[in-house]
Parts: sequence; C-alpha cells; structure tokens
Amino acid sequence: MKNEVYIALGSNIGDREKYLMNAIIKINQHPSICLVDISSIYETDPIGYTDQAQFLNMVIKANVELSAVELLFALQKIEKELNRKREVKWGPRTLDLDILLFNHENIETEELIVPHPRMHERAFVLVPLYELDQTMKLATIDQPIKTIIDQLHDKEGVRIWKQKNGVDVFALLEN
Ligand code: ATP
Ligand code: MG
Ligand code: MG
Repeated sequence: MKNEVYIALGSNIGDREKYLMNAIIKINQHPSICLVDISSIYETDPIGYTDQAQFLNMVIKANVELSAVELLFALQKIEKELNRKREVKWGPRTLDLDILLFNHENIETEELIVPHPRMHERAFVLVPLYELDQTMKLATIDQPIKTIIDQLHDKEGVRIWKQKNGVDVFALLEN
C-alpha cells in the first residue's frame, strides 16, 4: 500500500527555516514515510489573523504506507515535538503541518478533511504546490492550479524566499 500525499508546512515563530527543515527531517525519518520532493521556501503575508509575523511556507510530496488518519497523527506528533501550541485560531505557530492531498481521495471525518478544505483559496499553498506539479488539477474545482492562482488576490503576498536547490535537499537528508 503506497499512498501519494502532499503536505503543506508553515512557520512564523522563532527560527522559521529551522522549524521547516527539522520537520522535513523528522517526516523523512518516519519508517512509513518516504520523501519524494520539496518545493522552494516562500515568505508569505499572514491571512485570517493578520496581526502576526510573516510566514515561511512550503509544500512537500511523499509516499506513505499509512492511512490518512495515521499520517495526520504522525504529523501532529511532529508538530508537538517542535513546540506547536494551539492557542489562537490561525494564530502564530512554530510549525503547521496540513495534509493537502491523499492520492485522489475525498475524506471527511471529524478529525480530517482531504483535500484540505481551504487550500484552493490560499496562494501560500497553491504556489508551492504548483512548483511541484504544473499539470495538477484540483478535483474539487476542476481547474488547473495556475488558473486558480491567477484569480487569487493574496498571490502578491507570496514571495520566493529560498529557491529550491537539489543539492541542498540531499545534504539536508543525509544528516
Ligand atoms: P487550517 O486548517 O485552516 O490551515 P490550522 O492548520 O491552523 O488551520 P490546526 O490548529 O493545525 O489548524 O488544526 C486544527 C484541526 O484541523 C486538527 O485538529 C485536525 O484534526 C483538523 N484537520 C482537518 N483536516 C485536516 C487536514 N487536511 N490536515 C491537517 N489537519 C486537519
Ligand atoms: Mg493550516
Ligand atoms: Mg494545521
């Protein structure tokens, strides 16, 4: 059982890049998760609750031998290990790990909704996702990602912060 998943990462407290990198290392160290690809890192203006620091966001692709809910629990454990506190809704956080896509499945349980229900309105998610797969269509809207991004007004709030460098990725995972 090999499931193809996309996960969104975000951080806006402390050493944001370090939180993202430590999260990726922990994700890849999980015995049932195999990292396939990572996007560049983007700096983004906060949305929802706007009186907070800018975020670093990125998206990763992985193959997992876990069910969707097992993956959610594994990601929540990593959030916790990296000091995630749940205080203000959409407030500042050291690390947020959200499941965007799990194969092409539609999942709706009390603890998990996939595709992530707000991904299609978030440029900070769609821009890095588009970097990983330019041909992807979001089934929920039946439009290419590029068309959706072009229509989003918060896309100007998403700026490349660290361009992906293939060599860097492997160096990171060798540690
Ligand atoms: P948002 O979901 O709007 O990005 P958030 O990431 O800040 O908000 P969290 O506090 O991280 O929200 O998570 C709240 C709850 O969302 C979690 O307890 C989890 O059960 C639920 N959840 C539902 N669908 C997903 C998903 N696709 N990925 C991660 N968490 C999810
Ligand atoms: Mg989130
Ligand atoms: Mg979350």
